[in-house]
Amino acid sequence: MAARILNGNEIREQIYAELARDIAELAAAGVRPGLAAVLVGDNPASHIYVRSKIAACERLGIKSWMEAPPESFTTTQFLELVEILKARDEVDGILIQAPLPPHVDTKRVFGAVDPAKDVDGFHPLNLGKLVAGRPGLVACTPAGVMEILRRSGIEIAGANAVVLGRSDIVGKPMALLLMHANATVTVCHSKTRNLPDVVRGADIVVAAMGRAAMVERSWIRPGAIVIDVGTTRITDAAEAERIFAHRPERLAKFREKGEVLVGDVHPDAVDVAGAITPVPGGVGPMTIAMLMSNTVKAARMRRGEKSPAAAGARR
Ligand code: NAP
Repeated sequence: MAARILNGNEIREQIYAELARDIAELAAAGVRPGLAAVLVGDNPASHIYVRSKIAACERLGIKSWMEAPPESFTTTQFLELVEILKARDEVDGILIQAPLPPHVDTKRVFGAVDPAKDVDGFHPLNLGKLVAGRPGLVACTPAGVMEILRRSGIEIAGANAVVLGRSDIVGKPMALLLMHANATVTVCHSKTRNLPDVVRGADIVVAAMGRAAMVERSWIRPGAIVIDVGTTRITDAAEAERIFAHRPERLAKFREKGEVLVGDVHPDAVDVAGAITPVPGGVGPMTIAMLMSNTVKAARMRRGEKSPAAAGARR
């Protein structure tokens, strides 16, 4: 039987409806949450991401600013810009779109962001709070995965969860969130032995490796919940034909556009999983929704208010 599809676009709409109520409540108290985005260089993917984030702000009535320094900006100049944004009271969230140019000390720049405005949840203080299970701003993608699981009624407590990937922005915070929700968590990476066997033991699989269609259908225990964070753009026809050999509709789309977005999980896994997130339209929309949620949460927390029972407040 084909898996239940966990539709990230639908869940994002639920979260936006809740955020719209929170934002109206803040507006009544004279507060308009604000997000400042810093975008450097001409990486087309970064431009698309930042445009989508600003569009989401506009849709929800969050004020937004875009700083676009030149590619030649030095680490010192970035640090000065961060200081300016930190000092502006109307800026609740600071988003620095990665990657920064290679000559910039990215860790230093990210570390300079005020933890109270760190809506990406990358600051070591926020990571430490997450480790300790204390309230703070949590990285958007893993927070979005938790929203998908919870809002889809998936039982996390007691489940065996396998996280594929251990990056600071996805894999590690994901594992911590699942552990705090009482899953028994295994974290896998490029040195893990017998990966297919480890994945076969999972009730919940979260794949975040950036390896197109690597998790094969035979790795998935029948009925398991599969969350596919990976996104890889494929332009090679032979690769697309191999991956989508049993999905003629996806292959037809590839032929029409000359490219396709592929997750880490092979599309044939839909035939065995109990529930699965599609790529695109699964985790992707949730990342921006959680950025909006974190911005509203930061606006409240900075003013000493408890964050509401809305999306971003829960972990
Ligand atoms: P990353 O920093 O490159 O980390 C990848 C992780 O996967 C590493 O821990 C790596 O192991 C592990 N890995 C790589 N190849 C592996 C293999 N063959 N077997 C087992 N583990 C392997 O990537 P990231 O930033 O976490 O992102 C992961 C994916 O999620 C990417 O496709 C990215 O585009 C996507 N993503 C999507 C969203 C969204 O909104 N949908 C948001 C963020 C990221 P080692 O540590 O041993 O190297």
